[in-house]
Amino acid sequence: MAMLWRMNQALPHDQNDPPAGTAPAPLPDFTHVRDWIFDLDNTLYRADNGIFAQIDANMTRYVANLLGMERDAARAVQKQLYRDHGTTLAGLIAVYGIDPEPYLAFVHDIDLAGLHPDPDLHRALARLPGRRFVFTNGCRNHARRILERLGLNDMFEQVWDIRTIGFVPKPEPAAYGHAVKAGNIAPAKAAMFDDIARNLVVPHDLGMTTVWLDCQSDWSRQGPEFPVASAAHIDHETRELVSFLDTIGI
Ligand SMILES: [Mg+2]
Repeated sequence: MAMLWRMNQALPHDQNDPPAGTAPAPLPDFTHVRDWIFDLDNTLYRADNGIFAQIDANMTRYVANLLGMERDAARAVQKQLYRDHGTTLAGLIAVYGIDPEPYLAFVHDIDLAGLHPDPDLHRALARLPGRRFVFTNGCRNHARRILERLGLNDMFEQVWDIRTIGFVPKPEPAAYGHAVKAGNIAPAKAAMFDDIARNLVVPHDLGMTTVWLDCQSDWSRQGPEFPVASAAHIDHETRELVSFLDTIGI
């Protein structure tokens, strides 16, 4: 009898409704955040649209030209430089002493036809109180082209690129030191979004709120073995940036 009573009580409700008397799950709390810091590639646009694949292929081509190698051998060298130095560029500077500017122009010479305006992201970003920044290991010319294609070029106070951070890339602690200084950031009032979890280790240790955008891409999983991102470094994770931004408490 008691069971029948409970079944009848349950009938009018959707199965997804929380039981009566249960408080709804709290919103992710971002009420303390006034500075919003976003990685660029595979964070502000989707990893599966072919944009970063072109950059990746150009990096391999650059290494092949530089070292006079076939593509597969150059790719192995490139990935090793990336693992050892944080970016292919940092490795090429450290090991081969290259000039970064021609490299940056070469690898970012890509076709952006696959990238389209993202009014939903524009609206979600516009809702955020305070300042918004882009923090990329790439270059600012590339960032500006991407933001223009996405229709987001009016959304960001500053773009911090590999030059801003002295060619020392995320996840190196010095990179964040340069960025914090460039933006006059109070880490306790900042949130950082990145598709590479290890890039959130230092921001978390500095006191920022961290959001891992799990884009399910191999690029997010390759790279240096250190620092290792544990669950303790990731305050929030999501696969959809817009819907996440739409639901946070601000
Ligand atoms: Mg990225």
